Amino acid sequence: MSIRKLSAGDIIDARCTKCRSVLNHTIVAMVDGRVVRVQCNTCNGQHNYHPPQEAKKPAERAASTGKSSSPARPRREPVPAGPSQWELEVAGRDPQEAIPYAMDASFRVGNLVNHPVFGLGLVTVVTKPNKVEILFRDGKKLLRCTL
Ligand SMILES: [Zn+2]
Repeated sequence: MSIRKLSAGDIIDARCTKCRSVLNHTIVAMVDGRVVRVQCNTCNGQHNYHPPQEAKKPAERAASTGKSSSPARPRREPVPAGPSQWELEVAGRDPQEAIPYAMDASFRVGNLVNHPVFGLGLVTVVTKPNKVEILFRDGKKLLRCTL
């Protein structure tokens, strides 16, 4: 790039704010060697000097958006210390003797229950207001029943 001393009256390329393109402009005013005001040779409009090229956009920041550096680690499955209560009390039993779970079914402690969602369970507690606690593989659940 050749550096030549510019002075008022020189013709330079500049962006014209009215023509909205880079055109020849005549320098109208300079401050400290920098062009500050120009006149468009096309529309004769005077305006502040805009360099022919868009001011450089700030360098795009390295793709540091969004993703954090540490991807979520899959939670480690807790290793059971031994057979769970469910395995001890339910798994060994014959599923054929399980009662299909229903809200209007009646249960007694020790009944084997087959629940459509929770699977096989063992009735561990029957409480008065029509609640039965059943031990499923997922844990104990309190369900409705008819006493
Ligand atoms: Zn113009």
